[in-house]
Amino acid sequence: MPKPHNRTPLYHRLIARIRESGPLSVSEFMTLCLLDPVDGYYPTRDPLGAGGDFVTAPEISQMFGEALGLWVIQSWQDIGRPDRFNLVELGPGRGVMMSDILKVLRLDPACRSAAQVTLIEASAALQAVQAKTLGPSGANVTWVDRLEEVDDAACLIIGNEYLDCLPIRQFVRVAGVWSERRVGADAEGDLRFEVDGQPAPEVITHNFSKAEDGTLIEICPAIDLLTDHLRERFKATPGRALFIDYGPAETEFVDTLQALKQHQKVDVFHSPGDTDLTARVDFARIKNVAIGHGLAVHGPTPQEAWLRVMNIETRAVSLIRANPASKDKIMRQLHRLLDAEEMGELFKVIALSSPELPTPLGFAE
Ligand code: SAH
Repeated sequence: MPKPHNRTPLYHRLIARIRESGPLSVSEFMTLCLLDPVDGYYPTRDPLGAGGDFVTAPEISQMFGEALGLWVIQSWQDIGRPDRFNLVELGPGRGVMMSDILKVLRLDPACRSAAQVTLIEASAALQAVQAKTLGPSGANVTWVDRLEEVDDAACLIIGNEYLDCLPIRQFVRVAGVWSERRVGADAEGDLRFEVDGQPAPEVITHNFSKAEDGTLIEICPAIDLLTDHLRERFKATPGRALFIDYGPAETEFVDTLQALKQHQKVDVFHSPGDTDLTARVDFARIKNVAIGHGLAVHGPTPQEAWLRVMNIETRAVSLIRANPASKDKIMRQLHRLLDAEEMGELFKVIALSSPELPTPLGFAE
């Protein structure tokens, strides 16, 4: 994609760091671009708001969060209807999905009053939006920085488009060894990828040693840590996590880092700190690691299949009956969520649970 790249305030800081201490790993680059408190993408804006850069499923339609709400009620029943449980959302954006979930939880007042809503959000700007969105729900909402800070009560954990913004590292096979792909700069000061050919021992544990030269792999250490954490938590107390995100069902060996600005893909170095950066989620790896940890795994299943089993079409019919004038709008929303050429196929749903629990709602046996 074309240069010139915009020389944002964060660009100047990145260049200074590269000149001082050498190229950055892709994960350092992603972390600074997305989360730097002063110049990073999320802390400085509401990316989903009017004129934002991308739209997510809960922002498309209340039907999405409502399906999650039913899933939470059923999961709460499956874990034995505890008097109190932590309903944890990772990366809640504007808080719209949690707001729709809490409306559905009113269908089961015991579940609603048992739920302690806990949000994990890296951006103070978005925390403020979440507080505003969730104010009318009357829920007592708390924010914590890390899942480790959530108490030992049973947990139901959800995250939509959260895993895709966790920083990845990239490795390329060069002359028979895996070497880390890093972000450096050329003589004109343009950011570029570099591979120095030095062996990167981290990859050995990933069993990709037979790959041909030129193969690229992506590893997301934060997702591995999250899966480790879920193992410990769900071993101690019955619980479940549900993640919805975009990515293939099988591991790919390609560069999937992408930048979005106003709904368009742009070069990842286009405007550091001013574009959304994500990578496709490696669901096959999550599944394998979680199964290795003794967790029960359901999915990944395409968003379309999951939402259909959750009866989203019936919900659409009743919303249309209640408000016939919005029929076209509701049908358009339904198509965006379900159609293969929209979100239906690319987005997947995966559930990780304590092994003794029954199959979660929305998945085949
Ligand atoms: N779930 C929302 C928002 C998705 S955008 C929706 O579907 O609309 C990604 C969200 O994750 C944002 O709220 C972003 O600020 C948050 N986020 C990104 N990295 C994070 C991190 N490391 N820890 C916590 N939140 C993070």
